[in-house]
Amino acid sequence: MKEKAVKAYSIPIESPKDLIDAYFEVKKKTLKEVFSHIVYSQRGKAHLKFKKEDRRELRDRLLKDWTYSKHYIDSAINSVIGLVKGWIKLRNRGKAKSKPEITKKTVYIKNTLFSYKNGILKISIEPRRRYLEVNLTKYEYLPKDFNSIGGLLLTENKLIITFKKNVKNIEPKGWASFDINLTNITALINGKIVRYDLKPLYHIHRVYEIKRKRIQKLSKHKSATGRRLMQKYSRRERNRVRDFMHKLTTKIAKELSELKIGVILENLRNIKSRVLRKSRDLNRKLSKWNARMFQFMLEYKLKWLDLPVKYVNPRNSSKTCPLCSGRMATYGGRLMKCKKCGLVLDRDVVAALNLQMWGSGVTLKAPLELLSSMMEKRLIDRSSQYSMKAY
Ligand SMILES: [Zn+2]
Repeated sequence: MKEKAVKAYSIPIESPKDLIDAYFEVKKKTLKEVFSHIVYSQRGKAHLKFKKEDRRELRDRLLKDWTYSKHYIDSAINSVIGLVKGWIKLRNRGKAKSKPEITKKTVYIKNTLFSYKNGILKISIEPRRRYLEVNLTKYEYLPKDFNSIGGLLLTENKLIITFKKNVKNIEPKGWASFDINLTNITALINGKIVRYDLKPLYHIHRVYEIKRKRIQKLSKHKSATGRRLMQKYSRRERNRVRDFMHKLTTKIAKELSELKIGVILENLRNIKSRVLRKSRDLNRKLSKWNARMFQFMLEYKLKWLDLPVKYVNPRNSSKTCPLCSGRMATYGGRLMKCKKCGLVLDRDVVAALNLQMWGSGVTLKAPLELLSSMMEKRLIDRSSQYSMKAY
């Protein structure tokens, strides 16, 4: 198996402004050219008629006053073709809002344009004359245990580097399962229930939700400014959420790697579109957003550490009794009670237990009995604040 783990990092950099601007112009010209090659069928469907000769002709024309490495022209053409094809797909499904535009000043640098040796990344700007050298050893947070470097992305002030590592899946000593909700993640790690608080995330979402609503009200007249503000806030929200999740998943991945245990997650692929399309419930959307981001980040971080990640079908995972497989019904608040054996447990704990049993094929009788006996004790005094941090 030649599975690869991938990680992307960004470092601050002073980019060659002339290249960034020239590449930006080339992409804009290319977009105009490629866009003029879209033909429409009688039924109104668009498709791209951009032949090899067209491409060669465009390439030659763009190269005429191009002093930088030729590969940049190829990568600009490729990225624009990709953009237009993506737009056509959306348009034909009636989903494209406006024509595609080149808005970002980013340069894609494919691996034929750089070399890496002794910690130094050497990027060709002009053939055999001008290079951009970046000393990666200066950045301590970059991974050292990689096998190769994939494509680079250069923006005006940063360089995004993709590191690749060959994965050798090790046999885990055990499993950890994660059930992700709107305000918390419930995990079963090494037979222990651990809760991670997601309320700060929820708070971030609420704050930006309010900001967006306010702009919507104001921007009926000045829609361009309003749109820009909306984009700005959405970007900030995304960044803050991402930042939070990065910290959390890095911490979890580190703990799991010390324990040498793999991860079992819910397969959300089937549920997401079905549930989301019907539900206009914002909380539900947010909770799926959290789940997908958490899973994505945890998976690549774990793979990098050679630990396996499994997905199981989460259907009925919070309604099936982990002790006797009977049906569980709600029992006040977040609690569930088994109709058959009477087990009472928090529904997130039920889900985490089931995911782990279904994913690992091992029953969890001992930790379960411990859990249920603790639950019973708590139930005697249900007026006391119910909480489960770590048993
Ligand atoms: Zn039961």
